[in-house]
Amino acid sequence: MKPWEEKTLFGLLEDTVKKHGERLAVVDSNHEYTYEQLLEKVCKLSDYLYYLGFRKKDRVIVQIANSAMFEIVIFSLFKIGAVPILILPAHKEHVVDAICQRAEPVAYITMEDFYGTDYRKAAIKLKDKYSFIKHILTVSELEEIIEKENVERADTEPVSPRNLAFLSLSGGTTGIPKLIPRYNGEYCYNAICTAGHCKMDESTVNLTAIPAAHNFAFGTPGMIGTVYCGGLNVMCEYPSPLEIFDMIETHKVTMMSFVPSVVSLCIQYREIDESYDLSSIKYILVGGAMFTSEMAKKCEEILGGILIQVYGMSEGMTFLTDTKADDYVRFNTQGKPCAGEDEFKIVDEDFNPVPDGTEGEIVVKGPYTIHEYYRASKSAQSSFKDGYYRPGDKGIKDKTGNIIVTGRSKEMINRAGEKIMPSEVEKFFADLCGVKNCAALGIKDELLGEAICVFYEGDDEYTTSEVSKLFREKQIEDCCIPDRIIRVMDLPLTPVGKTDKNRLREMISDE
Ligand code: AMP
Repeated sequence: MKPWEEKTLFGLLEDTVKKHGERLAVVDSNHEYTYEQLLEKVCKLSDYLYYLGFRKKDRVIVQIANSAMFEIVIFSLFKIGAVPILILPAHKEHVVDAICQRAEPVAYITMEDFYGTDYRKAAIKLKDKYSFIKHILTVSELEEIIEKENVERADTEPVSPRNLAFLSLSGGTTGIPKLIPRYNGEYCYNAICTAGHCKMDESTVNLTAIPAAHNFAFGTPGMIGTVYCGGLNVMCEYPSPLEIFDMIETHKVTMMSFVPSVVSLCIQYREIDESYDLSSIKYILVGGAMFTSEMAKKCEEILGGILIQVYGMSEGMTFLTDTKADDYVRFNTQGKPCAGEDEFKIVDEDFNPVPDGTEGEIVVKGPYTIHEYYRASKSAQSSFKDGYYRPGDKGIKDKTGNIIVTGRSKEMINRAGEKIMPSEVEKFFADLCGVKNCAALGIKDELLGEAICVFYEGDDEYTTSEVSKLFREKQIEDCCIPDRIIRVMDLPLTPVGKTDKNRLREMISDE
């Protein structure tokens, strides 16, 4: 049997309870459960859900903030073989509506209050609209259920490694996300390979500060990898630097997964407040969006631990830098695939491999990378070719065999015929004094076809002529000089915290 055909996600929890039952499994600001207690709560909830009518293969919307309850709900659905659809708290009602039409969930599990929003209201609207939604359950109702006496043990159907485990949402920033089917065996393998890579064991204390429902925090290695190793999952509900640092100090957190915007906030906060003890940090995983070498260096210098850069996608493939890699690799590359069976190529427009060191389109395949989307339209098939998945990213395989992601293929700016990757412009712009965050994109221009526009957060107001002078002083090529510069208070973010370039595009077209 292949290693990606062996395990189920609920089986991982059961195995860990046998080995580490008395160890602490999960904490949030109000709860703390050992593995034995976690399993007991999971079983109680799955029995209850079974008696409500939840069955194997039923889809269930889960939109819950980072909490112990998130973990309990997910594992109780895994136990039944029901299929959670992982929706991030920041996903808007129209997105959930479209997902409902595609997946026909039988239930919507959500929360009463998060950042002042009552999620029940949207759930009720959807239940009224779609007769297939039979139940709305909220976190506080579930809290009561897991504290009650046992209901009769449910006679659930067995779940196999080949069974669909959950559906997650593709990471696009406009349009309706596609549904990504992830199966028990392959997902366990993805989590186990990445956990091994990050040297996780039962002493690991993993902080979940980005949404737990996002693949990066969920299982690469994230929450699932921590369960596999018998470590402790620390769930951070409101991911401000203050709360993050407080949790790191209190629980002696050893590893965490951040998107670059969270790293940037933490660095800024740390520079003004050094009072928290962060010495327990061993590894900081950073991925999900472009991360400059300067930020990478600062991450280790200011927050501590060893940086592990991660390039991955909810569709599967995960690249990571080695924990023992030298400074060049850790600060400048996104590593190698986590499993020996993974394959990747950098190809040209005709899908032919380009030589190492040359930029091209990244294409990937392997035992845990998907071959198709769930109930997808025909057009979604263009994401696959010759057995490879095409994430739409550009990159280089460098001389050390590590990958360097250079940007999104679709984001390439064509300025009067000159092709410029936004990441190139961003790299130079981020170096300007007082610039905290920036994003470059192509905007329509009558003369040039596309012009370069940079949005930035920062202390100083820059004009294009000042930036042009500063760029020229640094011998930066003329084609990277922005044509337009817009200072903003905050760059808009996607639900998981990546810069939302489509929103920036809309801001320009709204003018
Ligand atoms: P998601 O499915 O939401 O995880 O998004 C996956 C996409 O995020 C990838 O296809 C990339 O475009 C982007 N991404 C992930 N990791 C990185 C990284 N380390 N550097 C640059 N982009 C990244």
